[in-house]
Amino acid sequence: MPKTRDGKMLWEETKTKIKSAIGEQDFSRWFKFDFVEAAQDKITLSTSSKMVVDQINRRYSRIIETTMRELAGRNIALDIHITSESPTQKPSKGDEKHATSSEHPQPAKTEKRLSAADIGEPVRERSSKKIAAIQLNEEFVFDNYVIGENNAFAVNAAKAVAMNPGIEYNPLFIYGGVGLGKTHLIQAIGNYAAKNSDCMVIYTTAENFTNEFIDSTAKGKQAMNDFKRKYRKADILLIDDIHFLERKPQSQEELFNTYNTLYQAKKQMVFTCDRPVAELKQIAERLTSRLGSGLPVDIQIPLYETRYAILQKKIETTGIPIPDDVINLICKNISTNVRDMIAALNKLTGYAKLTKKDITLATAQQQLKDIFTSPKLLNVTIETIAQVIAFEHGITLNDIRGKNRKKQIVTPRHIAMYIAHNITELSTTEIGQFFGRDHSSVTHAEEKIKKQKQENPYEEERIQNLIKIIKEQSVK
Ligand code: ADP
Ligand code: MG
Repeated sequence: MPKTRDGKMLWEETKTKIKSAIGEQDFSRWFKFDFVEAAQDKITLSTSSKMVVDQINRRYSRIIETTMRELAGRNIALDIHITSESPTQKPSKGDEKHATSSEHPQPAKTEKRLSAADIGEPVRERSSKKIAAIQLNEEFVFDNYVIGENNAFAVNAAKAVAMNPGIEYNPLFIYGGVGLGKTHLIQAIGNYAAKNSDCMVIYTTAENFTNEFIDSTAKGKQAMNDFKRKYRKADILLIDDIHFLERKPQSQEELFNTYNTLYQAKKQMVFTCDRPVAELKQIAERLTSRLGSGLPVDIQIPLYETRYAILQKKIETTGIPIPDDVINLICKNISTNVRDMIAALNKLTGYAKLTKKDITLATAQQQLKDIFTSPKLLNVTIETIAQVIAFEHGITLNDIRGKNRKKQIVTPRHIAMYIAHNITELSTTEIGQFFGRDHSSVTHAEEKIKKQKQENPYEEERIQNLIKIIKEQSVK
């Protein structure tokens, strides 16, 4: 679960965006809430004025919804509580606690999300048993999952497990880099089994598992027994991001015991991880040997065609038309992380909704500029920067990294340092090291280039062009 702080930050960012969209005056008039808390897919606020709530629902629910989705990359519901009634605006009885129920700004999809409690058990028992694991996202189903060369094996295994849990491939261990579809796939197993069988499905993250474990340790024996029982009665136990258990020996031990109980009872287990089992150095060997004892499958970075198909699939669900050249733009610029691609798409659809304008290649380029220049996405290395700058100035890599103080070499060196510091997350020390210098040389280079930019109006454009070339060289 994201911490309250993240939710709070999201709400702050949402407010900033809305403020600039609707203007200072309306903003300060209506956006008067106290932040209460944040959960996975909901932000709770409070206000003492029912009128504020009414106005927000009537006028601003869409913009709030869209902005939060754009920023978070997923649907987030907003829940506004009325804390106390002011004498002049006394709400009617039924409205006192949740004034937002009728015209509430939360997206319908969020409301329909399944909870593990809902999906894990036969209907007749649902009200009597309660499973407090994490909710499944209703959109994370096989039907929405594009099969490509990067994940076909993993998808087939996941489907086999969803259809015949506990029979083969136990445990299924899905691994791969960030934002490549692991959570979607593991939840698709849960959603499928919940819909098509009477299995008790429990989905959680290793982080949540650890937190619950710690909580129940603190609360005493009864709580600990409840915790153990909860996970051990699963027919299908899905644990996301198992690497989180590194350096947490007690949680590892607890999972080890849970594992043994479930395995002996032929219950299905699925784990996801950001790397292969062999690289989980800080998890006890007896646990990793079990994690890897079923079927390990990996999800790799998708090729261009698959990335394209994934975006098309997402566009189908949003219903907002996006031209092919814009899809192409996103797929070309974002190559290593599907989540980032979708965030870019959400930014555009959010923009289209807010401005009621069609998305064109030019608006997409403008709107996504910052995302595309993020060095994290492009994986820009200092080597690439130095190579490109050297090449563009007709000198060699050795020249640019060397000791020569001639102007035609010093200037490109300064530019390379300046760019490295501006588009990567490397420190001045690290950049200095690459050029065989200390951090103060990098600071000095930066000052030089900044001065040049002030003196020469074309300098900025020249640097932006160089950055463009570096980015092109960095896209695989
Ligand atoms: P991970 O858990 O590996 O970090 P997620 O499962 O959260 O990644 O995926 C990130 C986003 O990308 C989600 O919105 C997910 O639906 C989407 N996604 C990833 N792979 C695919 C795919 N093959 N088809 C459709 N959507 C995908
Ligand atoms: Mg994930």
